[in-house]
Amino acid sequence: MRLRAFGMSDVGRRRESNEDHFLVDAERGLFAVADGMGGHAAGEVASRLAIDALRGFFDAEPGEGADPGDESAVRRLREAVVAANRNICDAISGHEERRGMGTTVVALLADRDRAVIGHVGDSRVYLLRDGRLRRLTSDHSWVNEQVRMGFLTDDAAQRHPMRNIVTRALGSRQDVSVDLAEEPVRPGDVFLLCSDGLNTMLPDDAIEALLRHAAEEPPVACRSLIEEANRRGGEDNVTVVVVAFADGSAASS
Ligand code: CA
Repeated sequence: MRLRAFGMSDVGRRRESNEDHFLVDAERGLFAVADGMGGHAAGEVASRLAIDALRGFFDAEPGEGADPGDESAVRRLREAVVAANRNICDAISGHEERRGMGTTVVALLADRDRAVIGHVGDSRVYLLRDGRLRRLTSDHSWVNEQVRMGFLTDDAAQRHPMRNIVTRALGSRQDVSVDLAEEPVRPGDVFLLCSDGLNTMLPDDAIEALLRHAAEEPPVACRSLIEEANRRGGEDNVTVVVVAFADGSAASS
């Protein structure tokens, strides 16, 4: 399947620095967003370490030929995220000023006719298929736990003062648990990876509307999403990666 992809990140309107990082490697079919936390420069360091570690893992283990098959891509994506976590934990140990440093990560690996998705934290992956938006990840956040237990509605969670509390992140413990999912890919599918600076500013129906024409122009979709997040307040850094699939065989970005 042919894919077109684009990524963009913006500091937003309230923050002084951007602690998000992203990865777009259309040739390899590897995409990721990481949203750092921990204050000062720490968040910026953690999200960059996560992205560098993912890239480094797949550079070292391209995974072609040796171990093909359904299990392989899932296993490699998990190993890549585990390796990223280890790098961040190592970067923290012995540095008192880095205590509390961490990052979310969402990653999508396009593997033949499916997408393998891994995530830790509250960055998200959405899929727009046949004009309808569906969320493919479940936030590791305090508000989402309340939603799951029926104590909060989705709408209330979106506005809740504790919406930034993440319950799972890279860098907080050595044995991180990675949520993994597989999604069969169809021509016309558009995947969106984003940091919470997008989805705390935009409800899903607004994201859906702005993604409608993303298949033709991923860069335009990225720009529109960021502009809309900023127009609605831009309270956080906002990062988006759009991956659009179509019939054919070439990759372009
Ligand atoms: Ca954020």
